[in-house]
Amino acid sequence: MRGPYRKRRVQRPPQFSNFKPSGIPRKYLDSIELTVDEFEAIRLADYLQKEHAEAAEMMQISRPTFTRLIQQARRKLATAIIEGMELVIIGGNIDFEHTLHRCHDCGEVIQLPVDVSEEDCPGCGSQNVEDLARSFIMGRHHRGGRR
Ligand SMILES: [Zn+2]
Repeated sequence: MRGPYRKRRVQRPPQFSNFKPSGIPRKYLDSIELTVDEFEAIRLADYLQKEHAEAAEMMQISRPTFTRLIQQARRKLATAIIEGMELVIIGGNIDFEHTLHRCHDCGEVIQLPVDVSEEDCPGCGSQNVEDLARSFIMGRHHRGGRR
């Protein structure tokens, strides 16, 4: 499975990166990591119901690679919900097409090109805005991601 190093295209970062069974403290749970490219495969094929060929093209990978990616992603999701594991979405070998900025004061989420620098929230003017793509590329989700 180790091919040439090529980044996978992801349209935008996930809005939510951590899921767990309710009512059970995290210290009692095992966790499973879903990479952003696996998340994108699920989003395109299962959420948006795109054909695998189209989804593969959007991610700039071959169709066989997409098929392996989505199989692995589905297996992880199934394992998490059946065995009751914490599911954490982490960075991967990816390039974002867009980013999302989330305002921590009013909750507004807006989509922007990745190279736009920090902007005030259009909803409330707050500067307490998080660039979600950044947290997957260089933040806490990134290191230790590849297995
Ligand atoms: Zn706001």
